[in-house]
Amino acid sequence: MNKTADINDIRKLFPALEQSVNSKKLVYLDNGATAQKPQQVTDLVNLMNSGINGNIHRAVHELSSKTTELYENSREEVMLFLNAAHREEIIFTSGTTAAINLVAASFGDKFLKRGDAVLISEAEHHSNIVPWQLICEKKGALLKVLPVDDCGHWRMDMLDALLDENVKIVSVSHVSNVLGLINPVEELISMAHSRGIPVMVDGAQSVVHLNIDVQKMDCDFFVFSGHKLYGPTGTGVLYGKRELLEEMPPWMGGGDMVETVTFEKTTYAPLPLKFEAGTPNFIGAAALARAVMFVNSLDKEFTQKQEHAVVNFMVEELSKIEGLKLYGTQGDRISLFSFTIDGVHPADLAMIMDKMGIALRSGQMCAEPLMRRYGVEAMLRASFAVYNTLEEAEYFITSLKRAIKMLS
Ligand code: PLP
Repeated sequence: MNKTADINDIRKLFPALEQSVNSKKLVYLDNGATAQKPQQVTDLVNLMNSGINGNIHRAVHELSSKTTELYENSREEVMLFLNAAHREEIIFTSGTTAAINLVAASFGDKFLKRGDAVLISEAEHHSNIVPWQLICEKKGALLKVLPVDDCGHWRMDMLDALLDENVKIVSVSHVSNVLGLINPVEELISMAHSRGIPVMVDGAQSVVHLNIDVQKMDCDFFVFSGHKLYGPTGTGVLYGKRELLEEMPPWMGGGDMVETVTFEKTTYAPLPLKFEAGTPNFIGAAALARAVMFVNSLDKEFTQKQEHAVVNFMVEELSKIEGLKLYGTQGDRISLFSFTIDGVHPADLAMIMDKMGIALRSGQMCAEPLMRRYGVEAMLRASFAVYNTLEEAEYFITSLKRAIKMLS
């Protein structure tokens, strides 16, 4: 099948991009928060909600068979997408946050004890900080932090000392939702593994922009959200190496995750169901597979070329704006840019630009410690997706300059 290599063909698949906002054609640059959905994703959600609807795994009737098949096929699709070795290594969750909480609670319950430590980086989303704080508090373990330098890069020179014998797990983002830099996860994983320490990679931002191969990366866990990958909200994935997942206790109890239940003792279902208690979002999971199929239908060479063009243009143009500070510089990055401008509040800028039809993110970006690291209270972020054009980037830069003038 021919892969799509034309941005107008891609845009046609996204009805949301057709709308006007504040009487201006929408320029949607808040993809790091959530992406728009292609027609094939919303069509499947509608189709299932309006008919192909029966609870999975539980019944012999036709509708249940159909939804079960869609759900399990989706697991297969995600397995291939991540190049996981086994289908049982793919656990459906409600998102990145749920997946991290699952690992923190379950892995932490089994493997953390008083005096142990968990290592994260200074550039984590709250979702990759708070779950670890919760389990560390419960277990009397310590949360250690790998700092970033002024450019936003991990202080790899400090890693050796930080990875001491107390560290039982490392959990880091592949790409920070603020800095947009592609972190050297493979180097970190290899160092951690040489000390027998497993690593979880938060792929919420990277999975949309990079090719992920969990076997090549050799991460022990990889997590992402469906809604940032052109899929439905309330969906997400935890990939985990089978041997580790098998050793970990269930996180939530309920239907579908059990083998036998008596009042005295319950035995658990094998992977992956052990971690999928209750009725899952089976419609969402099936639609997530459609989103993955959409991504697979794109010409990778074309999308990467397009992304490089946007990155080069944005970095160059942003650097020309007086008083603008870009966070995350020097090195490979995705098309996500967070910045501040002297004397102008990001929220005011975001509001004016909304009036110009441009959707941006402003605020603490769910990364308060990183805001503190750079001594700011808030930033403004423009994040691009495969359907964003270079013309939109140009319109963004012109509008930003106009908005700054209005506020200065
Ligand atoms: N991790 C990173 C790097 C993110 O960017 C986000 C969301 O922005 C999350 C975790 C949390 O994702 P979700 O809210 O979909 O669970």
